[in-house]
Amino acid sequence: MKIFVINSGSSSLKYQLLDMENGSVMATGLVERIGETVGKLSQKNWPGESRQAEVEREMPFPDHRAAMHTVVDLVTGTDTGVIASAAEIDAIGHRVVQGGETLFKSTLIDDDVVAKIRDNCHLSPLHNPANLVGIEVARELFSGVPQVAVFDTEFHQTMPAEAFMYPIPYELYEELRIRRYGFHGTSHRYVAQQAAAMLGKAADEVNLVTLHLGNGCSMAAVRKGKCIDTSMGLTPLAGVMMGTRSGDIDPAIIPFLMKEKGLDMGQIDDILNKKSGLKGICGMNDMRDIHAAAHDGDTKAALAVDMFVYSIKKYIGAYYAVTGPLDALVFTAGIGENDDEVRARVCAGLEHLGISIDPQRNAGRKKTAIAVQADGSKVAILVIPTNEELAIAKATLSVLK
Ligand code: AMP
Repeated sequence: MKIFVINSGSSSLKYQLLDMENGSVMATGLVERIGETVGKLSQKNWPGESRQAEVEREMPFPDHRAAMHTVVDLVTGTDTGVIASAAEIDAIGHRVVQGGETLFKSTLIDDDVVAKIRDNCHLSPLHNPANLVGIEVARELFSGVPQVAVFDTEFHQTMPAEAFMYPIPYELYEELRIRRYGFHGTSHRYVAQQAAAMLGKAADEVNLVTLHLGNGCSMAAVRKGKCIDTSMGLTPLAGVMMGTRSGDIDPAIIPFLMKEKGLDMGQIDDILNKKSGLKGICGMNDMRDIHAAAHDGDTKAALAVDMFVYSIKKYIGAYYAVTGPLDALVFTAGIGENDDEVRARVCAGLEHLGISIDPQRNAGRKKTAIAVQADGSKVAILVIPTNEELAIAKATLSVLK
């Protein structure tokens, strides 16, 4: 069973071809800078005997449609591909960011599902339209092949109303469906399941706080395997401080800025999504550069790391209060997997909560899942590399079954 996974962002397209017979990745690739003058495609193929192991292309990708056509040509190309033709693909799994309140579970895509994803575009204007193009082109190029939508919001659907409702007039929820949805759900679910396996417990027994710390950051409170709260909200702007996004701020800052600086909504949106977070404080959003600058005495870089760590600690405290006895903290994504300094600083001073990290075990980047708590720590501290593409492929398979 060969599954093609398509994960389109606002200006990028990640893809992976998996052979689910043995769980191996046959090809994985990324198209970046879609819509810009020159875009970049990089693809890695396994095994690489008679074909190129790496494919690189610098060329314009005017839109997601063009990117999808090039990707399918490369995956099936004689020198560049890993399959002889598109007919070898058995199913396609699509990441869809926003399922709203109409699409709760991974589902087989038909015209009705496409219409519902389109109806939810106003809730996720940057992502859902890109996801839809991926679906439309895949339905054209792989006609007759079953296609499944897997939603970022799905894992968070178990949140109770007290966690997902905002304390604003109820009519706004009824009229516009304004509520907390949460994102990165595929990643939170994947690491939660992996964590349960590592702890030797059933998936519906574990209490966890999962920390997806990448360029976008979100955390989830998991009680008995189910998400009961998460830090992102109606949009991925809410919650902990991120690379370029503010996370939680006083909402009154928005009208204040509009009045004092004469800014319009678009400008505010740009500031909060692209010029805030780590970047807003120190001008950089890659944690590696920020650590280097902080160690060289850049005080703004040091402040950015302090703020980042502090905002995560506060969420751990909040979620610890609602999960019940905590089994594990689970770190994942670019910063969570690779940044031992952030992991150590997030856990420092939490010993009174039963959270104690072991400096030697924690040291270095983690390519495979590992426990890094100190002996005697009541709460396990796990680092689990996320694998959204594998999770999407597995969800696709289970819908088809
Ligand atoms: P992601 O969005 O999960 O791909 O994560 C991307 C982010 O992970 C980058 O912007 C970096 O801030 C961070 N990152 C990646 N590698 C490292 C590393 N070795 N040390 C610290 N941060 C890292």
